[in-house]
Amino acid sequence: MISDAIFADSFPTLQQKIGGKKLIYLDSAATTQKPQCVIDAVTHFYEHDNANIHRGVHTLSQRATQAYENARVQIANLLHAPRHEEIIFLRGATEAINLVAQAYARPRIGENDVILITEMEHHSNIVPWQLVCEQTGASLEVVPICDNGSINLEAYKAMLSEEVAIVSMTHVSNAIGTINPVKEMCALAKAVGATSVVDGAQATGHMDVDVEDISCDFYAISGHKMFGPTGIGCLFGRYDVLQEMEPWQGGGDMILSVSFEETTWNEVPFKFEAGTPNIAGAIGLGAAVTFIQELGYDNISTLEHELLVYGTTTLGAIDGVTIIGTAPSKASVIAFTVDGVHPHDVGTILDHAGVAIRTGNHCAEPLMKSFGLNATCRASFSIYNTKDDVDKLAVAVKDAIRMLG
Ligand SMILES: *Cc1c(COP(=O)(O)O)cnc(C)c1O
Repeated sequence: MISDAIFADSFPTLQQKIGGKKLIYLDSAATTQKPQCVIDAVTHFYEHDNANIHRGVHTLSQRATQAYENARVQIANLLHAPRHEEIIFLRGATEAINLVAQAYARPRIGENDVILITEMEHHSNIVPWQLVCEQTGASLEVVPICDNGSINLEAYKAMLSEEVAIVSMTHVSNAIGTINPVKEMCALAKAVGATSVVDGAQATGHMDVDVEDISCDFYAISGHKMFGPTGIGCLFGRYDVLQEMEPWQGGGDMILSVSFEETTWNEVPFKFEAGTPNIAGAIGLGAAVTFIQELGYDNISTLEHELLVYGTTTLGAIDGVTIIGTAPSKASVIAFTVDGVHPHDVGTILDHAGVAIRTGNHCAEPLMKSFGLNATCRASFSIYNTKDDVDKLAVAVKDAIRMLG
């Protein structure tokens, strides 16, 4: 088990009081806090190795290049990607999905094609597909979910046909925590010849992800949801698929040679990394990968599952609280509503108690509508949370009900 001692000083942001109360951070699905080792890796880069990559023969440039490329190898290892060239550094999961939509889908699809997504997607896995549908005339279809927030697999199977060119689904829902059976869904997509894209923004901070086993074509991850810095994320893409693709953005580093008559592209993955990337961010993300591997996904999932079960029981026992999303397979996210109290008011009262939760539509407006809601409260847990945090959350929710309910 993970001992409290490991975390006593690991997360500087958590060592503070909010309005005189110890901060209880329950908003890790929006962004995780950063361990000291990640902060140190970023600082160390700027203090010792700062230089541009891939271009210089001088020592700093070589160090920076090595650290950046090491981070790529680390991420490939974390995701069990067969080759490190299959990892492209981008701004985040959003940019990764936009790259697939524009550089892979757009030149390959047309009016007769269908893109399938699910009802529980983050806006980042909806809007890029709407844009590409507008540009190509393809249609977007949405796989419904069941009442408990699980994917409706029967409906998914029925919607799959030869017309489906792309299936893009979230691995874990940020809004209700559902873990999708992505391996099965990707296999079903493949059976009709569709390309599969998985939004893994909420997965890699919590569970072991094996892109080979899932057998997806693309997998998007987000650095800041897995203890890494903001503004960095990755796209895994199958090597043969990436090689076939044209670049997305043009600029430095993505070219082999440039003339006004003809420009030739650099190899994968550099072909997709135009301009100076977030070097420090990639290095920070590498440190986050080490942090995760030292903890071990088994320990992380065990701890988070305990918090999920305890939180679900504790909150569920409060009169007036309804838990939204009760799929059998869930990550440590608990969405809930409180009778007669608007989620924003619950959030404000909780903040006064030092408890940070998220309220609103969680970038999943269509999902909220499917539950007949505009907004929910959401408590999301990570490795630095404890049962005591859950108790403090419950007390604060009861106070909110007493005051406003
Ligand atoms: C946060 C999130 C995104 C967006 O990721 P960024 O790295 O912030 O762009 C996409 N999908 C899901 C499910 C998310 O939780």
